[in-house]
Amino acid sequence: MEHGVALGRMRGLTVTVHWSVVVIVWLFAWSLASTLPGSAPGYPDAVYWVAGFCGAALFAAGLLAHELAHAVVARRSGIPVPEITLWLFGGVARLAGEAKTPRDEFRMAAAGPALSLALSAVFAAVAAGLAGTGISPLATEVAAWLAAANAVLAVFNLLPGAPLDGGRILRAYLWHRHGDPVRAAIGAARAGRVVAYLLIGLGLVEFLLGSLIGGAWLAFIGWFLLTAARDENAAVRARASLAGVRVAAVMTPNPRTVPESLSVQRFIDDHLLGDRHSAYPVTHPDGTCTGLVTLAQVRVVPPVERDTTRLADIAIPRNRMATADPGEPLVEVVQRLDRSTGNRIVVMAADRAIGVVTAADVARMIDVRNLAAVGQPAGPGNG
Ligand SMILES: [Zn+2]
Repeated sequence: MEHGVALGRMRGLTVTVHWSVVVIVWLFAWSLASTLPGSAPGYPDAVYWVAGFCGAALFAAGLLAHELAHAVVARRSGIPVPEITLWLFGGVARLAGEAKTPRDEFRMAAAGPALSLALSAVFAAVAAGLAGTGISPLATEVAAWLAAANAVLAVFNLLPGAPLDGGRILRAYLWHRHGDPVRAAIGAARAGRVVAYLLIGLGLVEFLLGSLIGGAWLAFIGWFLLTAARDENAAVRARASLAGVRVAAVMTPNPRTVPESLSVQRFIDDHLLGDRHSAYPVTHPDGTCTGLVTLAQVRVVPPVERDTTRLADIAIPRNRMATADPGEPLVEVVQRLDRSTGNRIVVMAADRAIGVVTAADVARMIDVRNLAAVGQPAGPGNG
């Protein structure tokens, strides 16, 4: 999901639209414009296209509203949502954290489909109202289509397999019932695989029965879901293997730090060329950490300005760095590893940088824990 356009930011939430959304809007507009003449005849062709694009654009807005509903409820449960992305298969709200209770998980998951169902009801009421007055058969048809499309969106998302909303509701239920969030997540991911195979099978049957595009589309969605369910399963297992590990156990302690007053040129000559590190906490003269500098920040300084630019000017500032306490559970910290933070977590104690955690450190720990677990009695993560 690299090639997106940021639509806008509000309260720390970035809404990104992937280029593939254009394909979806166009497909829906086209299908709507080509069916409308049958149900509301007598308009010029161009009017059907305008109506088709309006309907498709409103559908995309409904998709965004669905994701915003997830985001709003997640934030209320104390989980930050840095980004929402709209793309070919719908929307994704990226959560920087996990639900703390099955109840929170349920509410977060159910909010999206609930909103889509509400939208569906609103459009159905509008369609009924318009039909009663008989003002515009075309607008009536578009509203009726939007009611149906939002209902389908809600029902599809309620299919009980992760990572669909229904899968997260299933997870909340299993978690509530057995009290084990990890086992519940594995169960939901497994259900996601079953749902995916069913969709692929259904798509193939439809394809063979002659509905070529509909069948292929369904099978494609199933295949996509299968991949996502596998990723989900791998992520859950990785998280399970990190259970009980604290940040201090994986961090590289006593990181090499650099003074914030150092020029970029000196930094390259004396530090980057000399040792193997690619990220350095930046320190104030009193020893407190004020930022983090990585190769990415150095790269943007034009060579002629290296002598006059200080590290303080280019470093990722303290308030945008990913930080952690040494005693924090690693599972909760992993989600802070992000490109925007130099893919590093700086471990802080009394405002000083006492360690650094990279994605490679975490991956190594997962490998080691999995190796150590081989031969142990089967736990909830096996099978
Ligand atoms: Zn959803």
